[in-house]
Amino acid sequence: MNKPQYHPNTLSVRAGSEMTEFGENSEALFLNSSFRFNSAAQAAARFGGTEPGNIYSRFTNPTVTMFQNKLAALEGAEQCVATSSGMSAILACVMGLCSAGDHIVASRSIFGTTVQLFGNILKRWGLEVTFVSLTNPDEWHAAVTSKTKLFFVETPSNPLTEVCDIKILADIAHQAGAHLVVDNCFCTPAIQRPLALGADIVIHSATKYIDGQGRCLGGAVLGSKALMEPVYGFLRTAGVTMSAFNAWVFLKGLETLYIRMEAHAKNALALATWLEAQPQVARVHYPGLKSHPQHALAMRQQSSGGGIVTFEVKPNLNQTSQQAAWALIDATQLISITANLGDAKSTITHPATTTHSRVTPEARATAGISDGLVRIAVGLEHIEDLKADLVFAI
Ligand SMILES: *Cc1c(COP(=O)(O)O)cnc(C)c1O
Repeated sequence: MNKPQYHPNTLSVRAGSEMTEFGENSEALFLNSSFRFNSAAQAAARFGGTEPGNIYSRFTNPTVTMFQNKLAALEGAEQCVATSSGMSAILACVMGLCSAGDHIVASRSIFGTTVQLFGNILKRWGLEVTFVSLTNPDEWHAAVTSKTKLFFVETPSNPLTEVCDIKILADIAHQAGAHLVVDNCFCTPAIQRPLALGADIVIHSATKYIDGQGRCLGGAVLGSKALMEPVYGFLRTAGVTMSAFNAWVFLKGLETLYIRMEAHAKNALALATWLEAQPQVARVHYPGLKSHPQHALAMRQQSSGGGIVTFEVKPNLNQTSQQAAWALIDATQLISITANLGDAKSTITHPATTTHSRVTPEARATAGISDGLVRIAVGLEHIEDLKADLVFAI
């Protein structure tokens, strides 16, 4: 009998689940570090790889395996490697697939800590990284060398929500014998599936929308079995493993991913549309708005604009841009002032002095991150309460 082809939101509820002999209807939390064998011979067979099964939770754990299988089903990936955080997912990906002397081409508009990892830490181990414009494929083409192994992007980008054409960058990467890595943290598979668009590897910070309620740190790397083998090899040796408890929280989070992402995006579009009409707002960046420079592309690649809205506050006569942005942020009573995103609670940040404060002022200017810029990760509160929180401030 053929297995039915379930819809994605059915997979988010059902895929990956395994029951123990007790028949629990909610996935069990295996909070144990090691696994017992029936005999010395079985231990030898497990270690030797001739018998499948768990050995030690740094290698595999049933709760983590269920999380990996569920997320792999949602991204349409052969394999998923769960990690202790989003940053360790990026580290494991690079350590698994690159060696000293290799070269990475990365978008300039990536998570600040990823810039630090590539530009400062991995550089000391002989990895070369060239940063280019997310939206200009010619720069990616020109940056390729004979040593290029990976292209690395986030789309939409943080904080300006710029969007790149995944298919075009994948083609350039493949011509160069390299792999395209997409950090899909902002969209999640509920909105965008990069592998189906031509990318080779997907990265997640599960800390964000996969958790969805701001509780746990975690990450994931997804792709073909062949690409994930060395990534998993690094993980089980270096120990950047996802904790079973966190995997259990993420499993629950994924069950509601599709309805949450729809609700986040609906609220975000309403807020972005409203912000665009406010005289105190100079510009709104949101892929779901017609005014977004890559709106048509975003609507081809994504099922919605997502949950992140960024906008520039206009200063009044006796204010600097930063003062205007800070005044708006400080006047909020409902929205949380925090840099995290993907939470049911709406959050507000000033990128120039928080997430991007370690970036030089020149690099910020090149990236278009002005002092008046404010980012809101739109949560699940009622839209009128969110608007009211900002009206009051402006
Ligand atoms: C938060 C974030 C990361 C890092 O994830 P952690 O779980 O905090 O390590 C990576 N990429 C993006 C786009 C993020 O927003």
